[in-house]
Amino acid sequence: MSSRHTILGGSCGYDGATGPGPDFPSEEAVEIGRTDGNGARSRSLAPVLSPSRIGDVNRSRVLQALCDLGPLSRADLARMAGVPRATISGIVRPLLESKLIEEGQPDRHRNRVGKPGRPLWFRSKAGLSGAVALRGDTCETALVSARGEILADHAADLSDPADPKAVLRDILGGLSRVLPSPRPDILGIGVAVPGVCDTAGGRVIGSSQIPGLTGFRLAAALGRRLGASVLIDNDCRAQALGEKWFGEGRGVGTFAAIQTGHGLGVGLVMNGQVFRGEDGRVGEIGHVPVVPGGARCRCGLRGCWETIATLPWVRSEARRRGLPGAARMDARALTALARSGSRDARALLDRYADHLAIGLALLMQLVNPRRLILHGDAGGGGEDLRRRIEERTRARALPYLRAGVDVVLSRLDQQATLLGSAGLVLSETFNLAT
Ligand SMILES: [Zn+2]
Repeated sequence: MSSRHTILGGSCGYDGATGPGPDFPSEEAVEIGRTDGNGARSRSLAPVLSPSRIGDVNRSRVLQALCDLGPLSRADLARMAGVPRATISGIVRPLLESKLIEEGQPDRHRNRVGKPGRPLWFRSKAGLSGAVALRGDTCETALVSARGEILADHAADLSDPADPKAVLRDILGGLSRVLPSPRPDILGIGVAVPGVCDTAGGRVIGSSQIPGLTGFRLAAALGRRLGASVLIDNDCRAQALGEKWFGEGRGVGTFAAIQTGHGLGVGLVMNGQVFRGEDGRVGEIGHVPVVPGGARCRCGLRGCWETIATLPWVRSEARRRGLPGAARMDARALTALARSGSRDARALLDRYADHLAIGLALLMQLVNPRRLILHGDAGGGGEDLRRRIEERTRARALPYLRAGVDVVLSRLDQQATLLGSAGLVLSETFNLAT
């Protein structure tokens, strides 16, 4: 027997600015029930939503539409959020009064749907979150607004990744450099960790890069010291959340953010929600075996995707082909060499793109994301590499999925994880899908 909370029709069903959201369901359609293992709903339904709860749901849907598609006029906001036009002013007024959002001048260029009206958008420097991105040997911290403005940032080496107290001290030290005061007026703090995270429990399950955090209840330890709400998540998922809030994933229901370079990882957003699996142990697409009997991977398996589509592979191939600068070869250098007329460099660039496409096609076949957003090394290859990857992914995708292959390079790139840490806080605060 499993239980779940269900709000029929309650999800903002839009995917990009393609049309209006669904109508808000009648009270009778809104139910909180239980399902058995076969998905059948039991007859004992909880009471329908109270008017105040419907108000909360409407508010969340308006904020979700604003985050996904804003700036938007009142009329567009009501339409995209699927809430009655008559209620929109009542929802927006307290947000304006609290100075979280503001009303701008009509702007034909920024208003993406409908007639230009006075666009509503988050105020500059409002809705502040503390953001932390741990990256193996460094700790980055920032103060981020709901618009995605990075108002202050700091980076420092971790003093001892094997000692949880030292890591905690480093995080607190970094935050003290960016938060406005010892008792800052912030919504909360988000932390991205390179490892497996139990987001609901605030615990790091395992991290090979920062072994001191393994088994550590990081959210509670930080929360006690800061007197603030603290949320943690895996770095690849934070990266995806950064794209969902502020980047190429805005308004896109299902997309994948793929880290490339020294390793391969993926953060998946499916139907507007970051996919965390049963306990956070997801996203290790780099360790899907794709070469039977292939090279031994650092994980112990053979022929993982990582063994043929990461920088160690690019460098060993560059060495084998006698390319200059093989030991430090990356997508940027390889693309420049290929452009300069090196036939070997062009051939290796084609193979790099083809090998990356293997895992991307796997994602297409498995979840059919609307967009594949590349981070890390692939970005250095620019349009030359992006186009190659997209073509080869298309060639490897099932015929009826090919037209939907959309490979883009992240505009946020290095900042995506930090912004995603802020996105964790914003999503929780505004009661939005994460
Ligand atoms: Zn592996």
